[in-house]
Amino acid sequence: MSELEPVIGLEIHVQLKTRTKLFCGDATDFGAEPNTHVCPVCLGLPGALPVLNAAAVGLALRAALGLDCTIHGESVFARKNYFYPDLPKGYQITQFDRPLATAGSLEGVHIRRIHLEEDAGKLLHDRLSRRTAIDLNRAGVPLVEIVTEPDIHSAQQARAFLNRLKQLLQYLDVSDCDMEKGSLRVDANVSLRGADDAQLGTKTELKNMNSFANTERALAFEIERQRAILEAGGAVVQQTLQWDAVNSQIHPMRSKEESQDYRYFPDPDLPPLILTEPEIESVRATLPERPSAKAERFARTYGLPAYDVDVLIASVDVADYFERVARRCGDAKAASNWIMTYVLSALNTRGIRIAELGVSAEALGELIALVNGGAVSMTAARRVFAQMQETGQPPAQLVQQLGLSQVSVEEQIALWASEVTTEHADVVARYRAGDARLFGFLMGELMKKSHGKADPRRASEVMRATLG
Ligand code: ADP
Ligand code: MG
Repeated sequence: MSELEPVIGLEIHVQLKTRTKLFCGDATDFGAEPNTHVCPVCLGLPGALPVLNAAAVGLALRAALGLDCTIHGESVFARKNYFYPDLPKGYQITQFDRPLATAGSLEGVHIRRIHLEEDAGKLLHDRLSRRTAIDLNRAGVPLVEIVTEPDIHSAQQARAFLNRLKQLLQYLDVSDCDMEKGSLRVDANVSLRGADDAQLGTKTELKNMNSFANTERALAFEIERQRAILEAGGAVVQQTLQWDAVNSQIHPMRSKEESQDYRYFPDPDLPPLILTEPEIESVRATLPERPSAKAERFARTYGLPAYDVDVLIASVDVADYFERVARRCGDAKAASNWIMTYVLSALNTRGIRIAELGVSAEALGELIALVNGGAVSMTAARRVFAQMQETGQPPAQLVQQLGLSQVSVEEQIALWASEVTTEHADVVARYRAGDARLFGFLMGELMKKSHGKADPRRASEVMRATLG
């Protein structure tokens, strides 16, 4: 048998960042008391009529343009009919044969389509009482579904693609993409095929992965499961599988339904969605620089290594911050180093975004300029940076206030060195008699006195000079 190659296509549901639902005025905010954001429209009461949310259309259009799709001037809302307790209307409003956009691409993966649809409600199962409750706050929340072509060929590539997609959607500001809140959900379709097979193999669909890491794990597991079946001469059963992250297992959910099972038809309550060329172009004009373009520009203009570029452009606000720091201090690599180490770790430990750091890009740029100009040591600059976060004071002022300027520190180091040699005359004598290891002890004493103000390299030079 020829080598079996994995084939993966993804369907990604993304919640759009709107204030209200797709077809009514109820709020979309996450975590509200159950069933407080509902009305006749999203409850599906007879006679209630949907009105399309223009903000959701604008965001969907941004996503579609960002993915280089062909936008269709006319798209059609359809009813997808099925029964489930979280779907009071008995149908979901989605787009079927006339989607908003088709034929896009990202990272070498073709995007088949992107369409608008409403979310369903949420079922809450209580294991102890074995009861199920229904929260319909989410019913009618606007989503886009993004469907890729089966262009992905490993679990790892699927994860990398998802990371890029999330990054792009965040750049476009169409969604917060928070998987924990359910605002980004992934279904992964996977099959295997031999190198000479003309057709794709039978696929299974994996659901319920709550992170990209789990998506990768689930896919890797399922690829091996299918490989074992096929290599033993068996056949893969087309079905939907649930990933169980706790036990790293998959469970069958249901056999696959076909689109004719849903009896799709155009929703008679909604006219076709018409987008004119000027409307589409006016949204295109507001698109930000995309991550791939930014990466290319950062490498070119700042001459940064690929690793730095990747870290810096991970989020737009960090990328913007970096550019302002680099402009202020005129040293892109130093700016990058500071951000990758001290800034990002401060954000991590404090659990904040860069806007809340308390250190403006200009202030950090100034601090780096002070280091580069020799006015303050790197060691001292780190202390200043910590103080800047606490007090919000400008770096030059803190350097003075904390007595950290290189000039005053230079005088102090000499003072501390002579104090140490006086206080430990016996050690100095043994050192001079040939016990070279004692230099470390004397340096330690000096550094203690300096409370981190002295640059260790400079201090050791001064100490050597003092010892003669
Ligand atoms: P379905 O009719 O089962 O929903 P679609 O043709 O609509 O299947 O495709 C749904 C997703 O599954 C798409 O992302 C597509 O790329 C992917 N896909 C389709 N066929 C295969 C296959 N044989 N192997 C892997 N992925 C597939
Ligand atoms: Mg499908």
